[in-house]
Amino acid sequence: MGRTIGIDLGTTNSCIAFSDGGHPTVIQSKSGSRVMPSVVAFSAKGERLVGLVARRQAITNPRNTISSVKRLMGRRYSEVVDQVDTVSYEIVENTNGDAAVRVMDRVYTPPEVSAIILQKLKQTAEEFLGEEVTDVVITVPAYFNEVQREATKAAGKIAGLNVKRVLNEPTAAALAFLEPKGKTRIAVYDFGGGTFDISILQVVEGVFEVKATLGDTSLGGDDLDTQLVNWIMAEFLSDTGIDLNKDAIAPQRVREAAERAKCELSMAQETDINLPFIATGESGPVHLEIKITRKLFEELAGDLIRKTIPLCLDAVSDAGMKMEDLDHVVLVGGSTRIPMVQQLVEETFGRKPAQSVNPDEVVALGAAIESSVLTGQRKDLVLIDVTPLTLGVETLGGVMTPIIQRNSPVPTRNSRIFTTASDNQSVVGVHVAQGERDLIDGNRSLGTFELRGIKPAKRGEPRVEVTFEIDASGILNVSARDTSTGQKQSIKVNPSGGLSSDEIERLKKEAAANAEADRRRMKLVGLRNESDEAIYRATKTLKVAREELEKESWEELEAAVKELKKLRDGDDALILGKAISTLRSLTDSVAKLVAVFESDEEQAAAEFLESMTDGSEEETPEE
Ligand code: AMP
Repeated sequence: MGRTIGIDLGTTNSCIAFSDGGHPTVIQSKSGSRVMPSVVAFSAKGERLVGLVARRQAITNPRNTISSVKRLMGRRYSEVVDQVDTVSYEIVENTNGDAAVRVMDRVYTPPEVSAIILQKLKQTAEEFLGEEVTDVVITVPAYFNEVQREATKAAGKIAGLNVKRVLNEPTAAALAFLEPKGKTRIAVYDFGGGTFDISILQVVEGVFEVKATLGDTSLGGDDLDTQLVNWIMAEFLSDTGIDLNKDAIAPQRVREAAERAKCELSMAQETDINLPFIATGESGPVHLEIKITRKLFEELAGDLIRKTIPLCLDAVSDAGMKMEDLDHVVLVGGSTRIPMVQQLVEETFGRKPAQSVNPDEVVALGAAIESSVLTGQRKDLVLIDVTPLTLGVETLGGVMTPIIQRNSPVPTRNSRIFTTASDNQSVVGVHVAQGERDLIDGNRSLGTFELRGIKPAKRGEPRVEVTFEIDASGILNVSARDTSTGQKQSIKVNPSGGLSSDEIERLKKEAAANAEADRRRMKLVGLRNESDEAIYRATKTLKVAREELEKESWEELEAAVKELKKLRDGDDALILGKAISTLRSLTDSVAKLVAVFESDEEQAAAEFLESMTDGSEEETPEE
């Protein structure tokens, strides 16, 4: 059996880790990076770029560079309209009402884009481990709903991965942070690029139990950047009268600079933003130069950061605990480096947060630990997670009737009996939703199905049993059964966050083909480099040969150089490979001839010199 790896598929960065003998290690890329930017871009030639190379070219290619796609995973377009103006790429409404991305006239669903990131991570892991990787544990924010979890699983499938478990990020962090011994209670405060989660866990002799989890999947470092961006744009407008929002490239430059400034302000009290030639005014180029202090940033972003605090208080009380019951507070996610965040957490929990974990790596390390539990490498841990949001069905008057309450330990199962609303009703519709609002409209609809063939009876008489079942990954199955006839219908709720299984299969094939195309392109890049090296060596040899040998000794080599120059930029790796070896062997032959000629010359010269010496001796007149 191959290894199972742990993947932290982050909003801003992703990280992968594997377990060796139960001990987790972060996997580094060939260039030594331990995290990879979760960025995908499409170049003008239609090439797909992933990670650092994609992020580096974002400023010059903003429309075709997709970042923070995690914020769109499993979301309706109506839920993300407020994000449309905060990114430089185009967010569109898919035919089914879901959010999607349009790049170069093609619409990509968020799972497709995430799959491109996952494919790259898979490739990095395979290069590092030297073996094929298919089984993975992927982490998601604890507060992700069913659709978002399914969308993540679909992304894994499209990337050719077998997602063994969808694990909550804070749970993963706790696994990596705590020793599975004794009794400990911890809070994991996870503030990343796109989401905020707070989870309260209890560990008793290796049993990790999530007691409560709360969060906001639309609150992260990106939103803090937006506050800064809006302020910078407004300042620039009032100073110069120029609205940078109207420019194609300027907003992306400002956003990048704002994020950098935000990070710098975690260490310094003030920083400068300098963006030369950001716009052109009536009298020529205009530059953006602005000073930002930490105090100003805290004023701009404070309200958003403070939104996390009531959630922390509620989570502790949901867990049936008081602040003083907690032994540790662990910080996860890049945004926890902000001093104001650390200070608020310390004030709220009445203790200094633990500093011993790297917030960028701890989640992937925890996912790798969970993978070693799943493969049986580690037997000293048991994980009991909870479902973050209430699950229920719609009943008369658009009311949400809960079947599984939030913070119920998973896996779990619960049933409720419902009945008909009118006489001889033969069909009941079951509308499944998730959320904490009393009316169904305020919650996230997960899907509907019908139970047909109900025995004709007076209203209120039939007994329809609706059962919800959540597996260990938090994935929901719903069924409805007419208890008198045994007639049953079930759905795996919204199997993929908006994608049918046929679509997933199609995309999986497409992704594999793209990976193949990427491999071919990489091979061609390698062959072109080899061509250049072969041409360089041949040209050097030719230069000498032309001076020293007869034309017939080198004209074939000359022709081969011309031929390879012609083929170098072609797409046929086989022909190119052959032409390179032909040129190399011709170069070797001509080089040998040159060497023979030169050694003959040397010998002749030596003999000549010798003969000269002999002669001179003879000719030396005796004195
Ligand atoms: P994550 O999703 O955990 O990778 O966190 C990424 C978020 O953390 C992004 O919004 C980053 O801008 C933010 N971040 C990373 N480093 C810092 C820092 N030193 N100060 C403030 N924010 C940071």
